Order: sequence, then C-alpha cells, then structure tokens
Amino acid sequence: MYSLVCIECGKKNDESRYTCECGGLLEVRFNLNEVEIDFKLDGREMRVWKYRSLLPIKSEPVTLKEGGTPLYRLERLEKELGIRRIYVKHEGLNPSGSFKDRGMTVGVTKALELRKRAVACASTGNTSASMAMYAAKAGLKAYVLLPAGKVALGKVAQALMHGADVIGIRGNFDDALRIVREVCERAGIYLLNSVNPFRLEGQKTIAYEIVDEIGTPDAVILPIGNAGNISAIFKGFEEFREIGLIDKIPRMIGIQAEGASPVFRAFREGREDIIPFENPETIATAIRIGNPVNAKKALRAVYRSEGLVEVVSDQEIISAQKILAKNGIGVEPASAASLAGLIKLSRIGEIDRDATVVCIATGNLLKDPETVIKVCGEPKMVEANVEKVMALLT
Ligand SMILES: *Cc1c(COP(=O)(O)O)cnc(C)c1O
Ligand SMILES: [Zn+2]
Repeated sequence: MYSLVCIECGKKNDESRYTCECGGLLEVRFNLNEVEIDFKLDGREMRVWKYRSLLPIKSEPVTLKEGGTPLYRLERLEKELGIRRIYVKHEGLNPSGSFKDRGMTVGVTKALELRKRAVACASTGNTSASMAMYAAKAGLKAYVLLPAGKVALGKVAQALMHGADVIGIRGNFDDALRIVREVCERAGIYLLNSVNPFRLEGQKTIAYEIVDEIGTPDAVILPIGNAGNISAIFKGFEEFREIGLIDKIPRMIGIQAEGASPVFRAFREGREDIIPFENPETIATAIRIGNPVNAKKALRAVYRSEGLVEVVSDQEIISAQKILAKNGIGVEPASAASLAGLIKLSRIGEIDRDATVVCIATGNLLKDPETVIKVCGEPKMVEANVEKVMALLT
C-alpha cells in the first residue's frame, strides 16, 4: 500500500529508519491507485483520522481527537488588504495547543507498532508538549531535550505535567536535535522530531481539511521552523491532486523570522538546500531554528507549487499577533508570522487581489504568556475600591 522512499536516491527503506543510508530524507509514498478513499469531502466531522485511508497506520490509533480545527474568515482584513478571501486555520485549538498533535497521533501510534518502549525529541517547545501528551496516552516513556532558557513557559509546563523527562541543554535547538538523534540511535528510543516521516503524514491532514471545507485555495501561508509542516501540507495537496480530488495545488508560501531565515536565503539564491544560521534569534521561539532538517523537502514544495519564502521582523510578528487577537484569534508569536507575511506580501503586490488565501495559525496564545506581558505590559493595579476602579475606566 505504501513504502518509505528516499527523496534523494529513490531507495526503499525499512519503516524503522528516519533517513536513508545516503543521508537523504525519507518520505512515505502511497500506491494511490490501490488506495480506497472512504471519506467524503463534505466539510463534516473533520479529524485527522477521518482520512485514515491515506495514513500509513494499520493498528488502532493513539488519538486525543486532534484536527478538525476551525477555519475563520477575516472580512475586515480582506477589505484593508484588498484581497478577496482571507482565512485563518487555528491549529492552536488542537489538544495540546499546536498542529504538532496531528503528527504525534501518527508518530506515537507508529512507535507502538514498532514495539518501542520510549520516545524522544528535541524541541523548541511544542513538539515536547505534544509528544509528552501522546506518550502519556499510549503509556510510553518520553524524553525531551530543550534549549535551556529559550522555551516558552506554557510548553515546558505541558511537557512536565504530562510526565516527560525534561532535559535542558546549554545550547540551541539545533544542538539539541543533533544530540537527541544520536541518543535515540544508541539507546533504541523512537525519535519523534519531524525528520520522522510518519509525523509529516499526520500533518498533511491540514491540507485535506482545508480542501474538505472550502476546496483548493490559491495560497497557503505558514511559518517555517524545522520546515516539516510546509512539506507535509504540500504533500497533502499533491496526493489529493494525484487521486483526482482537486485539480490544482495552492502556492506554498513559507515565512521565516529575519534572525532565523536559512530557507529564505536559499530561496532567494535559487538553491535546493540551505546554509545553516549559526546563532538563530527571534522572539518567535517556535521557529528559532538555524539548521532546519526538512529544508530540502520544504524548498521542493515551494518550487513545485510556484510558491515563495519571505522573511518578517519580530516587530511585524508582534503586530500581526495583535491583529489576530483583535479578530478573536489568540496565537503565540511564531503563528503570527503567517499573517505578518501575508501583510508584507500583499503590500508588495505578491498576492493576487482575487485570491483565496489560508494562513495557518500554528500554536495557541496560552503557550507563551511571558511574551504577552512583555508586549502588552502588566495589568493595572488599584485598591479594592469602586471609585478607584471607576477612575480607571477609559
Ligand atoms: C513547530 C512549530 C512551527 C514550525 O513548524 P515546522 O514544521 O518546524 O516548520 C511553527 N509554529 C509553531 C507554533 C510550532 O509549534
Ligand atoms: Zn538515499
């Protein structure tokens, strides 16, 4: 039904591998002629497992009912930016508060299929929160490596409370990932970073749900960190097109933070692969990554869909976060990169006025309370007295 294929040399790999002998990334490839589609694209009862016939799992899934996230239309912003339709898909409303849950439900189920007892990841925060939650549900041991002092508080809290062993390292995310890959290899632990191709299979359902609800948009805009999600969503659209469920692929538009933008630089220079950033820095900690492991897949997705990669400043990210908040959508900074990107691109005429655009809001506002206080300031404080409070009303 499916095989695990190297994107570089085309060799078929065993399910237990994360990369090919040649070093290439692996990808799940379905024999789409043989797949029996058993779902209807009617916008109803959307969940990751609605699309089970296109997921590489045979066993009973470990699920917390992830997916089925709301798609909001931002009519006021449409008028302001002069774009026909702008939607935001709020992935922050998944069980652990980010889109990572779509990947983890598949990845953790695969860990059980492979009879692993423990799972591990390096994380800027959300991967660890999600993995801890699904490992708990599955009864697996979970190990998390974090860049010390650079992870938003809500995310650490989740990993701790759901029972993961949390280890901070004095280094950045890229160091943590390098270390955890070797530790997993040596200790027989299942690695659940997005280099794991099964995670991306779960995440591709974002594309399926968009089509399910509104058909094919003209562009999908999302932040790029480790570059897994943009690759996954592109794969989802591509599969739907191959099956004949849709007839075009939206432009895949990736947004990076200025201080952590190796994929943007590679795109600017027309390259197929990146040169890493040594010291990535941005307020959007979820995308504070200098050496994105899925960069090649992501660039391929961008080129093949005639999309693009853009950068935004931390200032633009915060201001987009506030615009989303004013529309009733609470997100963490990295998530706002997609809207910041749309605003920038629409101003330079890169987005068709007639277009239908979907921005992916990747994670929830509650993840990063400390940034909110920095940006909005502390609440006002007065004595417990009606007059004092009345005096404060504006
Ligand atoms: C993981 C994450 C990203 C980056 O996704 P990649 O697949 O690593 O590119 C962006 N935003 C949030 C909130 C995330 O948790
Ligand atoms: Zn290979």
